[in-house]
Amino acid sequence: MTSSDAAPLAEDEVPCTECNCLLASVVLVDSRGWLLLQERDGHARVAPNQWGLVGGHLESGEEWLPALYRELEEETGLRPAGKLELWFDEVVLHSPKVSTHLADRWRIWAGKVELSDEDITVGEGRQIVFVDPGRVIDGSLDLAPGARHVLTRFLESETYRMS
Ligand SMILES: [Zn+2]
Repeated sequence: MTSSDAAPLAEDEVPCTECNCLLASVVLVDSRGWLLLQERDGHARVAPNQWGLVGGHLESGEEWLPALYRELEEETGLRPAGKLELWFDEVVLHSPKVSTHLADRWRIWAGKVELSDEDITVGEGRQIVFVDPGRVIDGSLDLAPGARHVLTRFLESETYRMS
């Protein structure tokens, strides 16, 4: 079969190496100051078996906030009523690319919630729980490199201190 016979890939099936990925994530902070994080399973496309943020790729034509709430609900069952603050918006390299013209855009929202682990319905990954920020700082949590970078900054941010 030649490539012209192949069914065209749906947008969300284009490999990360060949597209400009748009990634929407959220860090929910509980009343103790602990962070809601996901332990990925072995099937995860990015950083399998490591901890990361809740969230994911925008689908074709999808706006940022609808994507964020969709990912949040798919992964945790949550639809938080409180306002989320856009905390992070940068071009990052979330995965290797076939061309230097390609890059990823990562936006991260943050918000304070009055929730606990029992309120989470895990829809993806091994577990999604509130994690002691001390485990981010001391390195004892096996975080994906990108998540470690942004969470370290988040814990030093005004946004986190105010929550
Ligand atoms: Zn991607």
